[in-house]
Amino acid sequence: MTERTPLSQALGFLREQAGIAFCFDCLANAIGATTRDLAEPLRRVVPRTGSPIDLGRGRCSVCRSETEVARHTLH
Ligand SMILES: [Zn+2]
Repeated sequence: MTERTPLSQALGFLREQAGIAFCFDCLANAIGATTRDLAEPLRRVVPRTGSPIDLGRGRCSVCRSETEVARHTLH
């Protein structure tokens, strides 16, 4: 059973949208969570797990902001 936390939902969403960059606002919006629910868990978990999620500065594919974005890298 997958735990349906905002973080796990976000990771699943990013996997489905692999290669596409989303800022935290748009990512939160896409899964019905708040930016606050997502930003901290993502920053905490992603660098540590060796996950395929890449966090860094980039352009959001939705709102076109130049900001911190998350993206699932294709392997
Ligand atoms: Zn955005």
